[in-house]
Amino acid sequence: MAKTKAQAKVKAVKPALVVDDAKQEESLEGTVLYNVPFPKDLKQLKGMAPIIIKHPYHIDYVHSYGQDSPFFAGLANKKLLATRCPKCGYTYATPKLHCMWDGAECNWVELPETGTIHCFTVCHFGSEEFLKETPFILALIEFEGANTRFLTRLIGFDPNQASLDWIGMKVKPKFKRLSKFKPTDVYFVPA
Ligand SMILES: [Zn+2]
Repeated sequence: MAKTKAQAKVKAVKPALVVDDAKQEESLEGTVLYNVPFPKDLKQLKGMAPIIIKHPYHIDYVHSYGQDSPFFAGLANKKLLATRCPKCGYTYATPKLHCMWDGAECNWVELPETGTIHCFTVCHFGSEEFLKETPFILALIEFEGANTRFLTRLIGFDPNQASLDWIGMKVKPKFKRLSKFKPTDVYFVPA
């Protein structure tokens, strides 16, 4: 097909910013492998083993505590807060905006300075964040005047010497000095 006059003109005039032999800069990150085997016959690619690469992965989660925010402000001030229903008096040892029995809006109250171990478990496996800390102990703490329990880490107990004698033992909260505004800012130790 014959070129039109206009097409011929486009080819002839090279735009000013076009660079010949353009090349993206190489970096030494990631997987570098030279002389990767490659068959002449492309049909053989069907039998190729999978290439597996490894690279670091990072995500910043932005998460709002919303109505639970006062609980974390409490932890930063060495106070363990509970919530209490003004209507029926049911007391949650956790943040709770509305009572699950009657829907009334709960008020913030402070938990007693000590509690008792209701039950515990020794974790030999955990999520990525806690895996390096295994074995660790998670316990449900019971408080006088609270109807629900608080799930927390138990420190100062040997996870390899777990004993049923621990049930009912008096414990008290300890707060991390450098608050990360996470539930792990508080943990429990023998009182
Ligand atoms: Zn209620």
